[in-house]
This record gives sequence, C-alpha cells and structure tokens, in this order.
Amino acid sequence: MHGLFALGSRLVRRGARRELVVLRWAERADPQELRARQEARLRVLIRWAYDTVPYYRQTMDQAGVSPGAIQGIDDLPLLPVLRRRDVKVHLDALTSGRARKRDLLPTVTSGTSAEPLGFYRDRRTVPFEQATRWNSMEWAGVTPADSHLLVRFSQATWWGRMVGGASIPLKVLYAGEPVPVVEILEQVAPTVVLGFPSLLHILAQAVLRSGRPLRTRPRCIFFQAEQMGEDTRDLVRQAIGAPIFSRYGAREFSAGVAQTCERGRWHLNTEGFIVEVLSGEPGDPQRAPAPEGRLVITDLRNLAMPLIRYEIGDMGTAGGEERCPCGRTLPLLGGLEGRNWEWVVTASGLRIPAAMLLPTVSWLHCDLLWEYQFRQDSPEVLEIAVVPVGAYGEDRQEELARHLEAALGGRITVRVTPVEHIPREPSGKRPMMKSTLHQGR
Ligand SMILES: [Zn+2]
Repeated sequence: MHGLFALGSRLVRRGARRELVVLRWAERADPQELRARQEARLRVLIRWAYDTVPYYRQTMDQAGVSPGAIQGIDDLPLLPVLRRRDVKVHLDALTSGRARKRDLLPTVTSGTSAEPLGFYRDRRTVPFEQATRWNSMEWAGVTPADSHLLVRFSQATWWGRMVGGASIPLKVLYAGEPVPVVEILEQVAPTVVLGFPSLLHILAQAVLRSGRPLRTRPRCIFFQAEQMGEDTRDLVRQAIGAPIFSRYGAREFSAGVAQTCERGRWHLNTEGFIVEVLSGEPGDPQRAPAPEGRLVITDLRNLAMPLIRYEIGDMGTAGGEERCPCGRTLPLLGGLEGRNWEWVVTASGLRIPAAMLLPTVSWLHCDLLWEYQFRQDSPEVLEIAVVPVGAYGEDRQEELARHLEAALGGRITVRVTPVEHIPREPSGKRPMMKSTLHQGR
C-alpha cells in the first residue's frame, strides 16, 4: 500500500473519506450556503473559546465583546488580531481548559516565517487534513495511490512523512552532476513530483543540463511553502513539462487553507477556515478589511488551541465576488504574496536555499529565539542574527552554529550574533535572509 493510505489508523482514513465527501460537495455548493456553514462553525468556536480558553476570555472582556456579538464573518473585526508573538507568550492561556490531553498535538512551525513557534494542533483534525490533501490531488487529476517523487527538503518535513514515495536526496541534487538526478527521475517515473520551489528549480536545471529529454513525464507538479517565481515556473515547465499545482497552508493550521485549480487560481477551503485580508503593517492593531494586505486566518477546526484571527505573516489579495472559470464555487483568494527564499552561496558557486536551514533553527532553538535573520556578505561566512527570548549563552550559540554548518555540508563558517531587534526594510518587510552576493540562478 502506498504511503498516504498506509499512514494512520483505519479510523483516520474512514474519517478522512467522510470529510472528502463534504469537500467535494463544497466545490460546487451555493456560496451562500458555504458562508452559512462557516458562520455556524464560527459561532461555536467563539463560544467555546470564550468559555474554555483563558486568553480569549480576557481579550474579549477587555475589548468589551461578548461571544454573542460575533454572529458572522462581518463581526470578526470586533476581535483583536492574534500575532505570533502572542501565541509564544500565551501558549498556556491559549490552550483550552477543556482540551483532552490526547487531543493536544504538540507542533513546531516549519519556520517559514523567521519567528520560531511552538503550539498545539487538535489531533481530531487529522482526518480533515488528510481529506484536503486528497482533494487537492484530485484537482490535479491524480490520487494518493499514484507514484510520487519527493524532492527532499529535509527528512523531517511533514509531507515527507505524509506522502512517502520515492525521493531525490539533497546530496544527489547538490552534487552538481545532472545525470544521476535524471536517472532517479526515469527510474521512479513518478506521476506526481512534489517539492519546494527552490529545490524544483535545481531539479529542473539538472534535467536541462543533462541534455536528455525525459522519457516519461509526470502528470503534475506540486509545490508548497514558498512562492514559485516566474523564472522557476518557466524552467520547470521547460524541463518537466507538467502542469503546476500548489497548496497554501502552514503548520499552525488544521489543514490546507487554499489550493490551486487547473486554472491556476487559489480557492479557499471554507470547510476549515475564514480568511481575511487586512490593511496595515504586520502586527498592526488596525483591523479594517482591505483589497490587499495581511492575511489573517481563523481556523474553524482547532478546538484544542483555537487560532482566531491569526496573523500568519503572509500577504495576499482578496478575491471579491468573482467566480473562477473552472466552475467551482468556492471563493477565491485574489493572490498570494508569500515567502520568498534567498540562497546561501558557497565559494564553489553552489546555491543552497536558505529555507533548508529553517528546520535547524526552528526545531532545535524554537524556545530560545524570538526571531532571526540570515546575512551573507562573503561566500565563506554566513551570519545569523538572533533575538534571544532570554539568556542565550555562548554554548547555545555555538551549538546553533555547529548545526547550521553541518546542514550546509561544512562548506561555510556560521557566526551567530545575538541582537536586540531585527529592523524592517523601508518596504515594511523583514526578509529572512539578506545577501549582498549575486543571487542570479
Ligand atoms: Zn478554479
């Protein structure tokens, strides 16, 4: 049996199949009905949060908002935005007093934002997550039983565990020899190729450099977590020649928040989420809806540690009333301006996606850092500026440097510099990596 199906108990799969039936129905349901379902879930969530989660009781009392005041999506601006920093400080107070221990699924963010974060998901949402994954594959015309090739980002990525299938190890990808890469592709002859855009970029480069056209082409390519730039898109199309699909989500959420259809448009997952687009800077208490701005997401499924109006750190464009030519009635997200990675450049000219370093920082040092930023001005040295949570002694700094050097294959010296604050750029953004080295691909 293949990875996806082999994973999890029979119970999870049964639950996931039930959820999938609803997701399929929702694709073409009356938009008014979809909204009514979201709002019914929202009212339950708000009542639950007020009654059982100390953080929400306190913030709602402070704002003078009773649970009954939140009847629908339009009432959400009455509530404050939940920032990542709030989650970090109030982890216990954000956990429902009535959550059963077995429902708390401790998780750490993949670090797609440069602020490591630990939190709880609700274990009861696992079938829903599975179902949204199957559903997004259906849209691409494939099933979990089809053969997969994972362009491996790290052993520990959740989709590495979820999807299973074959993979191209990083060391093969990075060896700079295109032929072994193409040989794996041909051996596996995958129906689906999954990966982070930065790694798909290297894969596509290898295929083109090998000078051997692929004998079998995958039916689709999936990417997630980073945005795919136009240059990568062109390269992947040219090298692999399969339609490109994507899912949008984050570890914090119970499931995928949005996914692309065959027209390349983002459809929202109304069965699990309410997505708002707000004006203002990140962390801004300003609460007004805007056509373009910060994404603020309410997870309707996580009752263990509710995330209500959670500011994930991505920017986007509201979809409005427009309908997608694909025929699905699920509302659209106009656009997604997400996380763009930069590259660490080595002395030999090898480009390693900085994203590859995130698990090291986020998982091993999550409790110790507020935020961080990579900086590179020379191919010999990579600097990481960190804002420590409290005492962050030299031993821990050295440990981080050692782990990062290992992740970079010993090619670069890493220096850790504790700082008090990481400034924003004039644009208001705070990039995860700043580099003065040539970033051309
Ligand atoms: Zn569509």
